[in-house]
Amino acid sequence: MDEAPKILNGGNSLRPQKRIFLGLLAVTCVLFAAILAGLWYVPYVGLTTLHPRLPLILGTLFVILLFLVFVIVTMLALTVVLGRDLFFSKKLRGVVIKLLLPLMSGIGKLCGVDKDEVRRSFIAINNQLVLAQHLKTTPDKLLLLMPHCLQFHDCKFRITGNIVHCQRCGKCPIKGLAELSDKYGVGIAVATGGTLARRIVVERRPKLIIAVACERDLSSGIQDSYPLPVYGILNHRPQGPCYDTLVNLERVEEALNTFLVKGEPT
Ligand code: SF4
Repeated sequence: MDEAPKILNGGNSLRPQKRIFLGLLAVTCVLFAAILAGLWYVPYVGLTTLHPRLPLILGTLFVILLFLVFVIVTMLALTVVLGRDLFFSKKLRGVVIKLLLPLMSGIGKLCGVDKDEVRRSFIAINNQLVLAQHLKTTPDKLLLLMPHCLQFHDCKFRITGNIVHCQRCGKCPIKGLAELSDKYGVGIAVATGGTLARRIVVERRPKLIIAVACERDLSSGIQDSYPLPVYGILNHRPQGPCYDTLVNLERVEEALNTFLVKGEPT
């Protein structure tokens, strides 16, 4: 068994993805505070005519709301910067997935940040928060979910859903992934798109997923699967998108060693 599983994409170094996330988070907070101030100030005059204490009551409520947001954002930023589970990593992941990603995508667009940069940053933060939960599972509860574009474009063997028909000829990364699946005893599935991926997840009911895909598919997959933890690994596209893509098998194996209760291969 591996004694100390490597912490993937974690640690306390501020990778560019983390910096983008934290930058967008800061801009989101400033905008939120400005909107709250505006919401309080603009009807100020109207409120005093209703009751002289109303502006004070509303102002207090806004300050409490702002304080709560400040606490959540500080915990999130500290978890990201320190690379450690402070509190509520699971809940924080929900906040990031449900609330912050849509907000930050919009703000990123306004600030001229590339959409894929924001997605990469989201995936890195999601991974960090999944790692911070220190999840461990047995091989039967872990699923390797792969995109169809990893398969060699001219391969005649059908591997969608189940890869048993792969002949392991070595022309694409499916061979190496099949070997990892055998070595660790974990399930593996290849999906052609989000609909099939969702069906596979419903059928197999994993407790944790290690997914490989492009920025767009990984972000939407992580969102769709919530609260199921998904650890995302980006594919490489030397031939362009969706065509004979590649994946770093070492990273997949590191992820397996990190999340499996038994690091010892079967
Ligand atoms: S490794 Fe498997 S999927 Fe890839 S080209 Fe060979 S037979 Fe096809």
